[in-house]
Amino acid sequence: EPVSVAPFLDELVHRAELLAREHGAVVDATREGDAEGILRVDHIRIEQAVLALVDNAAKYGPAGGTISLNAGLVARGDGPTELRIEVADRGPGIPEKELPHVFERFYRAGRSRDLGANGGGTGLGLSISKTIVEAQGGRIEARSRLGEGTRMTLYLPLTDDETTPPESP
Ligand code: ATP
Repeated sequence: EPVSVAPFLDELVHRAELLAREHGAVVDATREGDAEGILRVDHIRIEQAVLALVDNAAKYGPAGGTISLNAGLVARGDGPTELRIEVADRGPGIPEKELPHVFERFYRAGRSRDLGANGGGTGLGLSISKTIVEAQGGRIEARSRLGEGTRMTLYLPLTDDETTPPESP
């Protein structure tokens, strides 16, 4: 079922705030422009994918840190408009040579590898997020700088035609 961008983002920000709070972090949510449109995605699964990024930002970022959650529309060349969602933290970052691997199943970078099951997770979160996003026709990109932080960017397809039915699952 197609869903409008604005209420989708409202709900997403709300859930991100609750999740961040569990880790003692806060969310700084910003929106560029009107951010209006109709998403052609399974918004429940996409929300799950974004929340996994927020969870990582809270988990690996500094205690009590701020997670930036920025959203806006981007025009993709001649192609259709996309919704861009960015989740950024000011945590330790991911070493450059490890960054290409963080979306692999069970991959855990740097020190998180040594933390064991109680020190974070299984290394599945990002691979699941990527699978979900790509199955919905979107994509996800990771950027990071050691000592500065990590930024995960999602791009999701939009339709500006409210009468267009969403793709069947
Ligand atoms: P879980 O399955 O519970 O999410 P995880 O956090 O270890 O476990 P992923 O979410 O897939 O697994 O992340 C893979 C690895 O990428 C992490 O172990 C961590 O080393 C690194 N990573 C992911 N996000 C960040 C981040 N925001 N800052 C620093 N490192 C990160």
